[in-house]
Amino acid sequence: MPEPLLSIEGLRSAYGPIEVLHGVDLTVNGGEIVSLVGANGAGKTTLMRCISGVQPVKSGSIRFSGHDMTRQPDHARAGLGVAHSPEGRQIFGDLSVAENLSLGGYHRTDDLGADMDEVYGLFPILRDKAALPAGGLSGGQQQMLAIGRAIMGRPKLMLLDEPSMGLAPVLVDQVLAVVKSLRDRGVTLLMVEQNAYAALSIADRGYVMEQGEITLSGNAAELIADPRIREAYLGA
Ligand code: ATP
Repeated sequence: MPEPLLSIEGLRSAYGPIEVLHGVDLTVNGGEIVSLVGANGAGKTTLMRCISGVQPVKSGSIRFSGHDMTRQPDHARAGLGVAHSPEGRQIFGDLSVAENLSLGGYHRTDDLGADMDEVYGLFPILRDKAALPAGGLSGGQQQMLAIGRAIMGRPKLMLLDEPSMGLAPVLVDQVLAVVKSLRDRGVTLLMVEQNAYAALSIADRGYVMEQGEITLSGNAAELIADPRIREAYLGA
């Protein structure tokens, strides 16, 4: 078996004295979509922040593409190919849509034009609004911009936190279709979603997190069929 692209072992993280991740183990293989589901406050966002390097790790390890990046700063991880589209989007409202996209490729020295065109191809509305302040975009458009910005970094691994949050159903489908098309282009994705059914239906594998621990994991189709998941997360 080749080494997973991302391998997390025994990860613990805390806010001040309060530990919220209690020894998480998780792997993502190259070319997979892996979905992480779980109730509010389970620790999913904290785990994503640990992986991208904006949240300190207390103990345990994070290996990515052959590197131990547990203690590396976030920009070093971006340089290795980790892109994070955070919950709440965190776009720069005063900057234009195009400027926000360019920021996603800040660590690159090559020409960004082709990737900009690719993002505009995926989300044509962003091309129409390229010169306008990003703060004027609707919630769904801001979500597209956050994903587009992550694409601009040409990541090997994309961390998507709640890509469907606040979107109308038709836009949820559009964003999930983009996620699948990214996988088809060779990007590996780890996605956190409240919408467990949507998340698992496009994933290869899934993990369930409860109160800072992984309580269930497996093939996504098996998880969708699992009565425990159906009852707790799929409203069955
Ligand atoms: P949600 O979907 O609501 O974001 P989550 O599964 O992503 O939930 P986290 O946001 O990682 O969960 O939160 C895990 C725990 O850490 C929660 O108990 C939360 O209250 C706490 N927490 C999150 N951010 C902070 C912070 N900045 N300071 C203190 N506690 C925090």
